[in-house]
Amino acid sequence: MRIAIFGGTFNPPHLGHENCIKSVQSALELDKLIVMPDKLPPHKQAENLATESDRLNMCRLAFESESCECSDWELKGEGRSYTVITLRHFREIYPSDKLYFIMGSDMLLSFDKWYCYEEILRLSALVCVSRSDEDTERIKPCAERLNSIGGDIEIAHTEPLDISSTQIRSLVAQRKFTKLSCYLNENVVKYIEENRLYL
Ligand code: ATP
Repeated sequence: MRIAIFGGTFNPPHLGHENCIKSVQSALELDKLIVMPDKLPPHKQAENLATESDRLNMCRLAFESESCECSDWELKGEGRSYTVITLRHFREIYPSDKLYFIMGSDMLLSFDKWYCYEEILRLSALVCVSRSDEDTERIKPCAERLNSIGGDIEIAHTEPLDISSTQIRSLVAQRKFTKLSCYLNENVVKYIEENRLYL
């Protein structure tokens, strides 16, 4: 089987994430896609972080389908969520399947700062989706460099969508609710409003 894991904070999940998933699904014939919200992101400071259950619920509203499941495996763990630990676990469950870890271009560009990144490369292939035209140029040499040290990095073709969760939290804080539907699944917009998140 070809199994992809898409990790992130999803605070909240937005159309950029959805575009990322669609681009990967078009590039690879996946048998299984697992969206994995992290408990505490290892690579950045969590700002105005919604609760674990709110983030998981929003991921389910945004992504869950026959071909995509949302997992609470990292949320049930202790402390920061390190990708290498998640991948060791999934490698154990799926010893002979092809594993991919999905990431946006910002993550690939800083990948050599990740905890145990060389082990990650041994455990899983990476599939990267660009977040901007500028990144599209920058990720090619980066992928080549990681491939030259034994990585298996694919770049999924995409029309980049320059959207971030930070932008969305800021729109909500400014009460610009009408703009949200340009960036979010409508069920996620409803969830944010009903649960008064990010105010
Ligand atoms: P924040 O603004 O809070 O830092 P974010 O928008 O970067 O959040 P995350 O949940 O941290 O979202 O991202 C999870 C994964 O999705 C990361 O690999 C990230 O690179 C990727 N990603 C986020 N936004 C996009 C986008 N617009 N296009 C492609 N990939 C994206």
